[in-house]
Amino acid sequence: MQDFSKRGPRQTQLMAEAHRHMPQGVAENYRYWGDERTVFIDSSKGCWLTDCDGRRYVDFRLGYGPIILGYRDDRVDAAVVEQITQRGTLSGFATALDTEVVKQIKAMCPNIEKMRFANSGTEAVMGAVRTARGYTKRDRVVIVEGGFHGLYDEMMWKSDIEHWDPTGTAPPSVIPFGGGIPGQARELVELIVLNDMAMLDALFKQRGEQIACVVLEPIIGNAGSISATQTWLQRLRDLCTEHGAMLVIDEVKTGFRVAKGGAQELYGIHADLTTYAKAMGNGYPVAAFGGRAEVMDVVGSYKGGVVHGGTYTGNLVALSAAQATLKILDQTDALKTIDRVGAQIRDLLGRVFAAAGIEYAFAGPPAMFGIHFTSTVPTNYRDWRVTNSDLYRAFAWQLIDHGVMLEPDSREPWFICEAHQELDLGWLEEVATRSMKAACEGAARGER
Ligand code: PMP
Repeated sequence: MQDFSKRGPRQTQLMAEAHRHMPQGVAENYRYWGDERTVFIDSSKGCWLTDCDGRRYVDFRLGYGPIILGYRDDRVDAAVVEQITQRGTLSGFATALDTEVVKQIKAMCPNIEKMRFANSGTEAVMGAVRTARGYTKRDRVVIVEGGFHGLYDEMMWKSDIEHWDPTGTAPPSVIPFGGGIPGQARELVELIVLNDMAMLDALFKQRGEQIACVVLEPIIGNAGSISATQTWLQRLRDLCTEHGAMLVIDEVKTGFRVAKGGAQELYGIHADLTTYAKAMGNGYPVAAFGGRAEVMDVVGSYKGGVVHGGTYTGNLVALSAAQATLKILDQTDALKTIDRVGAQIRDLLGRVFAAAGIEYAFAGPPAMFGIHFTSTVPTNYRDWRVTNSDLYRAFAWQLIDHGVMLEPDSREPWFICEAHQELDLGWLEEVATRSMKAACEGAARGER
């Protein structure tokens, strides 16, 4: 029996050493879970992670979403190895593969006519926003409360939901995600509330002609998959068209995951510009932005053209991984399998919560569903604030201590990959039952 609850000896050692070399002892902020809890991974395969002390976890975090098939998928890895050993990693020149991958994406996503590559979601969003501004010749951008669009200064504003009083009438204040974000980066940014029709109409009435773009995740992958309603998203689409503003749908999390054509396929609504990353490369670092040809054609190296570039852009590691991953997603039943297994996992968790007498609501599609301890599905980020996220956190820590890895924050959805089909769901139900019981007992003792 593996003991997950105690700190492993190697973890203690690695953490102490890492502190001497990296701020907070981690390669990027979001990995730091406290000195005791920061996870050091040794290897991964399928839906499994093995940590530095040899403990195995079934993983529903999947590196924040990129793993769509499974870790170390042989089909994708073989394509990458062939490419880098037979052809190279990058040359700073065009290759035939560039167009081939765009053609694959166009076959899956009818919202794309032309496209450019990037190396991360952050870069793809930067490219899309700049293109929208270049095309519209306007500067103002609109984002939605609870969304996340990477580290670009203007996207680093959020509503301070943690310090907001949900019983009052004042809206949450808008704050930067952290230090180092210049105040000027706020000046051209508007925040709106998902599914708030009156707010949307008022914004366009007042500022419609100044808006370069509205950037949003219709299924908010950074707020527990709380989703736009069909009518609200359609209204947003119509208002953008009417006022000449670009609709930018950020499919960094939803793209090639919730459907072949991402969230836009589920809604049947097309953006002017779309960003992709994560699932398109099954964990290899690749991203892209694209959309209507007329809009994308403002990108170019001629006078006044929108600047887009990057030494690593369209490198062969990224593109061969994307080619292999997209081929599997397009031509096999991988996404159907993910939907089926995701629905089974959601159902079993529903049984566990019901048996424990916990009010719960799921949000989003089976491939990336959010769990909210509340009686009705939240419709926006402010609703999330009144869910029992403390109980969720306690439940998540219990799961982790029983060998089930996930983000201990209900704003991060459960991600499903094809390899989860191998999981023993009876075992998962049993572990979830024990974890929920322990979390409820902790809550009854007043633990947080
Ligand atoms: N957009 C969305 C919707 C995201 O979820 C993220 C990252 N979680 C990003 C953009 C930024 O992507 P990256 O971390 O690859 O820069």
